[in-house]
Amino acid sequence: MINNKKQENMATRPPVVVVLGHIDHGKTSLLMAIREFNILEKEAGGITQHVGAYEIEHDSHKITFIDTPGHEAFSAIRSRGSKIADIAILVIDACEGIKKQTKEAITHIKNAEGLSLIVALNKIDKPGANPEMVKQQLGREDIWVESIGGKIPCVEISAKTGQGINDLLDLILLVAEMEELKADISVNATGAIIESYLDHQRGPTATILIEQGILKQGDYIGTNTSVGKVKNLEDFLGKEIKEAKPSQPGIIVGFESVPVVGEKFFVYNSYDEAKQNVKKKEKREVVEMSPDQKCLNLIIKGDAYGSLEAIEEILKTLPQDKVCLRIIKSEVGDIADQDIKMAKSSEAVVLAFRVKKDKIAEITAENNKTRIYDFELIYDLTQKVRELMERKLTKEKERTDLGKMEVVAIFRTEKNRQIVGGNVTEGEIQKGALLEIFRDNEKIGNGKIVELQANKKDFDVVKKGKECGILYQGSERIKEGDELVAYKEEYVKEEL
Ligand code: GDP
Repeated sequence: MINNKKQENMATRPPVVVVLGHIDHGKTSLLMAIREFNILEKEAGGITQHVGAYEIEHDSHKITFIDTPGHEAFSAIRSRGSKIADIAILVIDACEGIKKQTKEAITHIKNAEGLSLIVALNKIDKPGANPEMVKQQLGREDIWVESIGGKIPCVEISAKTGQGINDLLDLILLVAEMEELKADISVNATGAIIESYLDHQRGPTATILIEQGILKQGDYIGTNTSVGKVKNLEDFLGKEIKEAKPSQPGIIVGFESVPVVGEKFFVYNSYDEAKQNVKKKEKREVVEMSPDQKCLNLIIKGDAYGSLEAIEEILKTLPQDKVCLRIIKSEVGDIADQDIKMAKSSEAVVLAFRVKKDKIAEITAENNKTRIYDFELIYDLTQKVRELMERKLTKEKERTDLGKMEVVAIFRTEKNRQIVGGNVTEGEIQKGALLEIFRDNEKIGNGKIVELQANKKDFDVVKKGKECGILYQGSERIKEGDELVAYKEEYVKEEL
C-alpha cells in the first residue's frame, strides 16, 4: 500500500542535458542550433534570453539543456556532490578529433555516476571531417561507440547546417526513456542553482533547476549561503509561472543574497527554518599538517562561480602528499589590490582565470614581485599548478656537512673577503663549500670558500689533520680561534 502510494508520487521527468567538449568544437553552436527546434520558444515569440538553461519540446517530449559556457558546464555534472545532468553530449570536431579539453571532459564524465554519454561528432559538413578517425581515438580513451562494437551512442552532426540534430534529439529521448527518469513530486522542492547574479532592479536573481518536488511562488527557500522567499517565479523565457516541476529550469527572484552556482536549494516550511539551515560560510577543510609539510598557497580569481568550482574540483585531483595545495581565497571578480597584498602576506601565487587585473593591482604586484598567472583554459591552469608544486619540491635544498676547520691565522682582510689559515679538525674542507662561522660555540655568520690551498698549491679538497688556507667570502669578519663548519647544499629533485 505504502509502496503504491510512493509510486503514485513518482512522476516521469524530462532529461537534463549538458554539452561538453573542447573549445571551438561547436558547443555554443550546437546549443543554439537545438534552440532553433524549440517550439515552446517560437510560440513565446522567439526571445533568446540567456539564463543558463533552456527547455525544448521534441516529439511532444520536453528536454532541458544546461546552457552554461565552457567549463562551467562541468560544475553542472558534479556540483557539490549533487548530480544535475542526466545526459552529457560530448561534442568533438570531426576534423580535429580529441583535444585537451575533450580528455578533461571524458574524465569528468567517467567520474560522474549515473551520467549517460552521447558522442556528437560535429562539423560533419566540412570536407576534412573524419568521423572514423575520431571513433578510433575515442577507443583509446576507453570510450567505445556503437558503430565500432561498443555501447556508447554516437551521431554525426553539423551545428551549422542542422544535419543530424534531429537524430541527436531522438537519441536523447531514447536514452532518457531507458533511464526511466523519475522524480518525487510530493516532497518539498529541491534543486540546484544553475546561474546567479545581482539584478540591480530586482535584486538577487537565480536560474534554478528542480530535482524533486514542485516549487511554487511564495515558498521559503534556502541554500548553504542564502535564504529567501520566492517572490517571482518565471520560466526560462522570463514568463511568470505559478510552479516549476522536476527538470524544469526557472528563474527566481527573492533570495536575500546571491546564491552560489552549483549549490543545492531546499524549500522549508518557514523563513526561520530556512534561516537555521544556512551555514555561516562554508569553511574550508582544515588539513592537519606537520610543520615541515610543503604547501603551495593559491589565490584564485575567476569569471564565474562555476569556473572556480570546476578549477577547485580538478585541483583536488592532483597528488598532494608531498606538496599540499592551500586555497587561501577563491573568488569571482577581477584581480584587485587586496588580492596582491594577501598573496604577499601569505606567500601565495595568484591564478587569474578569464579575469582582468586593475591598474593598482598590477603596480602592487610588480612592486611586491608577486606573480599573477593568467589562464583561459583550466587545463593550462592545472599544468601550471603542477609545475609550481614541483618547483616547491626542487626548491628545497639538501644540506650535507663536510667538515670543520679551526682558524689559527688571518693573512689578509679586504672588503667582504679574507685569507684565513687553519687546521682541518673534522671531515674535509672543499673548494666552493659554504661556511658557517662559530665563535665561542655561537654562530655569528655565513660565507663561502672561494679558493682552497695547502702548501701554497690549489686543492679541491683538504682532509682532516691537514693545514690549509682559504679565500673566504662573506660579510662577517673571521677572527683567530673561530671554528668554520663547511657544508654543501644541493637542490633535490623529487617527483610529485
Ligand atoms: P565552442 O567554443 O565549442 O562553443 O564552439 P563554437 O560553437 O563557438 O564554434 C566554434 C567555431 O566553429 C565557430 O566559428 C562556429 O561557427 C564553427 N562551427 C561550429 N559548428 C560547426 C559546424 O557544424 N560546421 C562548421 N563548418 N562550423 C561550425
